[in-house]
Amino acid sequence: MTNLKTGLLFDVQRFSIHDGPGIRTTFFFKGCSLRCPWCHNPESISAKEQLKHDPKRCDLCKKCIDFVQGDGISIVDGKLKIDFQKHEENFALIDVCPSKAYGKFGQRYSVDELSTIALKDKDYYTYSQGGVTFSGGEAINQMDFLCELGPTLKNHEIHICLDISGFISLKNLERSLEFTDIYLLDYKLTNKSDFKSLLGQDFDCKVILDFLEEKQKEVILRCPIIPSINDTEDHFKVIADYSKQYSCISYVDILPYHNLIKRENFNYINKPQIYTVPSATQKESWILWLKKHHIKKGIIEGESI
Ligand code: SF4
Repeated sequence: MTNLKTGLLFDVQRFSIHDGPGIRTTFFFKGCSLRCPWCHNPESISAKEQLKHDPKRCDLCKKCIDFVQGDGISIVDGKLKIDFQKHEENFALIDVCPSKAYGKFGQRYSVDELSTIALKDKDYYTYSQGGVTFSGGEAINQMDFLCELGPTLKNHEIHICLDISGFISLKNLERSLEFTDIYLLDYKLTNKSDFKSLLGQDFDCKVILDFLEEKQKEVILRCPIIPSINDTEDHFKVIADYSKQYSCISYVDILPYHNLIKRENFNYINKPQIYTVPSATQKESWILWLKKHHIKKGIIEGESI
């Protein structure tokens, strides 16, 4: 039967080794309900296709300025300045530019197209006990599409990880149970007063953990640690406590903040905030806290804690 639904993705990464066990193909879905200021994939936040501009390709020929009659695009201090609020979806600019400086974040794929991509590396998945990961953004926000892609991949005996934040609907989570082998659950903050101001939403990750524990689903708890935001002993204590309290958590993956933003060379809306990269000494203190609070099993940058 032909599948007519499409999903909106901003990236496809083959041979990924950081998004679950083994060698994996990661599908990055566009659209997220959170607004984490440290997000490494800020182009994932909007659920729409978005205009981007590469200044390295731009030779300031002014053709795009003429095209919009100077409305929202100009040259300031020798650089092209674009009002992305105004032109975020003005994709006609892509064809106007002779230097191909404009492009688009976001591409629609059918279930068949993504299945074909995933199946190219099936031998690697089998060899490494890997598979496919649905990530984002928040992949689960495109649930109708996942409900067709997931079972299609399962028919080919492909292992599936689903990357989720704690801010998702239990109804969608329930729908994902039939095709998801492992959940990669982000645990970002412990201090409740930070949720609304930093993430844009108020929620409790425990609700998701309780649900997945009851359903006996495996969870890898992924904890991005951002200096000056959540690198406190209280936060590490809760991480260690969860690892012991929930049998569904197979291990905790500590993800130290890095500033390797994939799209830093482009101009577009939603540029991320830059934080201080943690030092080796800071990371050592995190490990000591986790050990002090008897973490069940954890890794940091691929090394066991
Ligand atoms: S048309 Fe292209 S090369 Fe010319 S100013 Fe605009 S972005 Fe730059």
